[in-house]
Amino acid sequence: MKKQILKTPFIEEIINVCSNIYNAGWGENHAGNLSYRMTAQEVDAYIGKDWGVTRKYNLEKPCPELGNQFFLVTASGSPFRNVKHDPEVHLGIIHLNEEGSTYEIIWGFREGRQPTSELPTHLLCHNERLQVDPDNRIVLHCHPTYTIAMTFIHELEQNAFIKTMWSLNSECVLVFPEGIGLLPWMVCGNGEIGWESAMKMREFRIVLWPHHGILASGQSIDQALGLIETVEKGAHVYILTEGKTNQCMTDEQIVELADAFNLEPRKGIIKENV
Ligand SMILES: [Zn+2]
Repeated sequence: MKKQILKTPFIEEIINVCSNIYNAGWGENHAGNLSYRMTAQEVDAYIGKDWGVTRKYNLEKPCPELGNQFFLVTASGSPFRNVKHDPEVHLGIIHLNEEGSTYEIIWGFREGRQPTSELPTHLLCHNERLQVDPDNRIVLHCHPTYTIAMTFIHELEQNAFIKTMWSLNSECVLVFPEGIGLLPWMVCGNGEIGWESAMKMREFRIVLWPHHGILASGQSIDQALGLIETVEKGAHVYILTEGKTNQCMTDEQIVELADAFNLEPRKGIIKENV
């Protein structure tokens, strides 16, 4: 590879974000995984044409929008707390073929590691997200504590969940005016949850997996992490107040807030905006 890949800004940022998520308590044991779509400029600057293929795999569900794309991905079974100690073991770069039906490992995943078991979910989410946002770069999964706790207390109905979130903090409707996608509980690590998450990603940048965690996408790591932090803050307040508020932001106040920032909240959630 052309340059020392470990010195690149995006690898340093990803190593930091893995440590930060672990330190926040959102990446216990093997929890947490992320994928970062590299730009053509990054590929050219840091990989060039002379990459070495170590292993090749088929994808159960092809991702045609991702043909010939490169992704930096966390490894299966790699604790986030360890990424900084040995990035070439716990991270790797994959390259998809022209049809988006196979991928090859071109860097990292040393000691026989493989990409996260949630790779199908990540790729399907990138595949859908890119169709609504061509600048999307990141899909990030972790286990924010209060967000998970809220899925044990709040009813698991998407519109009701979004409305509660918006009413918990003025930032919420401003940060995610499109709302949050909420799935039923599903088995993780397979194509089905990946497919359902990807379908949600057509409308939302955030998808909640009840009793498990969160999936966020974005044009940068900061954006995806910012979405998770905002949801987690709302959920933290919800848990602290045990969902028993004497008052919270009203529908009128949510509309007033969105108007002030020229944002259009998702239709059908609050009564003034159906
Ligand atoms: Zn998880």
